[in-house]
Amino acid sequence: MKLPFDVGIAAGYKSTPQKIRVMTEDWLATQAYCPSCGHGGMSQYANNRPVADFFCPECREEYELKGHGQRLGSRIVDGSYRTMLERLQSSTNPNLFLLGYDVERLTVRSMLVIPKHFFTVDIIEARKPLGPAARRAGWIGCNIRLDGIPVAGRIALIRDGHVEPASRVTAQWRKSLFLREQVDLSARKWLLSVMKCIDRVQRKTFTLADIYRFEEELAKEYPGNRHVRPKIRQQLQFLRDRGYLLFRGGGIYELTDNSGRDGPLDGGAF
Ligand SMILES: [Zn+2]
Repeated sequence: MKLPFDVGIAAGYKSTPQKIRVMTEDWLATQAYCPSCGHGGMSQYANNRPVADFFCPECREEYELKGHGQRLGSRIVDGSYRTMLERLQSSTNPNLFLLGYDVERLTVRSMLVIPKHFFTVDIIEARKPLGPAARRAGWIGCNIRLDGIPVAGRIALIRDGHVEPASRVTAQWRKSLFLREQVDLSARKWLLSVMKCIDRVQRKTFTLADIYRFEEELAKEYPGNRHVRPKIRQQLQFLRDRGYLLFRGGGIYELTDNSGRDGPLDGGAF
């Protein structure tokens, strides 16, 4: 995987955003591989396709590409809020590539993929509607809350210019696929909430009491639910059955190597 962009490909374009778009797309098509199956060479959809930009000809996973010239913060700006909410309800929601590049050196610095099964409504935030003077007055855009995604859902292919082994990436991808079994989005949201609580404990081994500490917070997040503790235990059981956790007995739990973590337990920088 070569990290510098092919600058020549953008020679015919005038504006910097256009050049960057052409170079990042070219880079993804020629240098990247599919994090789901490892296949090299991603195919690009025609430009008029509304949501996904790329697909893997081997496993048919679809990807949206978002480039950024600065370090990622806790949020990333995306398109229309309404379109995003509609997307989440449909099966055509793509996986998301976040490609960080160096504007001066025109090279790739970081690459993350967020598998689509980590997207739930609560990580999508409405921005303020555009003011009356704007061409699209009243239009509402959205932010994706990256800090609302569990560590297991932020898979790094490239970190600070260092390329991660592809086998590790595809293994990490496979380990969270159990989330797709949870077709009901509210059930999946519970699972993700508990996964995030586990992330925040920041230990490989933890107790049920460590997770019960989030009871009040979860009760606020799910106001209709009066049985937060049983709900927590149910999620932990599900995570155990899918190989994400081990029960050690006596209320002690341990994250397995299958929990899709390869970085610091706090998730580190994006
Ligand atoms: Zn693939």
